[in-house]
Amino acid sequence: MSDTMRAAVLPEAGGDFELVDRDVPDPDSGEVRVAVEACGICHSDAFAKEGTYPGLSYPHVPGHEIAGRVDAIGEAVTAWVEGDRVGAGWHGGHCFSCESCRRGNFLQCESREITGITFDGGYAEYVTVPSEAVAAVPDDLDAADAAPLLCAGVTTFNALRNSDARPGDLVAVQGVGGLGHLGLQYAHAAGYETVAISRSPDKESRARSLGADHFVNAAETDPAERLQALGGARVVLATAPSSDAISSVVDGIGTDGSVVVVGVPGAPVEVDVNTLVGACGGVEGWASGHARDSQDTLEFSALRDVRPEIETYPLDEVAAAYERMIENKARFRVVLEP
Ligand SMILES: [Zn+2]
Ligand SMILES: [Zn+2]
Repeated sequence: MSDTMRAAVLPEAGGDFELVDRDVPDPDSGEVRVAVEACGICHSDAFAKEGTYPGLSYPHVPGHEIAGRVDAIGEAVTAWVEGDRVGAGWHGGHCFSCESCRRGNFLQCESREITGITFDGGYAEYVTVPSEAVAAVPDDLDAADAAPLLCAGVTTFNALRNSDARPGDLVAVQGVGGLGHLGLQYAHAAGYETVAISRSPDKESRARSLGADHFVNAAETDPAERLQALGGARVVLATAPSSDAISSVVDGIGTDGSVVVVGVPGAPVEVDVNTLVGACGGVEGWASGHARDSQDTLEFSALRDVRPEIETYPLDEVAAAYERMIENKARFRVVLEP
């Protein structure tokens, strides 16, 4: 094995990607080194590109949707051996000793790490990751398919499985994009009566093939009225990062219903609390999951044949691939194959 690797590096906040040769990193105690086979490009990578997240230092390698093989293990690593197929997502490790960790709430760890933010990520041939941030990838899942499931997948899967919705309940997925096309598949596989809400009528046939029982064209129809006509939603999974779009579905919840936001808009969301009081409902948020949640997501996806729709690019084309993502042109997730 060569001592150097190719990596896509951001030289500074707001800078352009540079392809460089770097030393292959050695895993510290408690870390594994992963030979990266695929790394998704996610909208949250804009934090790294633009320098808008605390904890960044430059030069920096982004990427938190990593799938590959364990290539070396550091001291004190017992959960993994060389050759294991693994992945890593946004949650990049935790301390095991703060108050949140002592309660088993690793996502809220006071010293939590974020892959591709607080340490270099997967836009490279190799990456080192804390061993507690690593998930096993099932044999029958390709690395390129697994990569987006480690962020967009676990976010939507975990939001739905931690909601109060039960099989047969009306569950709407607002937005048919990078998150929504996965949310629809998980909602269908979970046994919900599944509604797709989109402002793009051309997405209807795709949404139905992904498992939607109903399609609401929000450009022509009031989505809240349609949801009420269907009995009121137990959950609306809001995936499109638009304040107006989120506001427009709140009146569609039924008794004990909730709008669960996973796509974060740039502006505050206006909510008429009359609806919430009447329904005893709420508007809430959900953030991804830890490594075991990711592994549950991968295993369920393999079991029920949930796959992301992806476009793949070699590492050399990182700039063009990032543009596809940030300009919202990709159908639906962009994946680098270093
Ligand atoms: Zn992501
Ligand atoms: Zn902690």
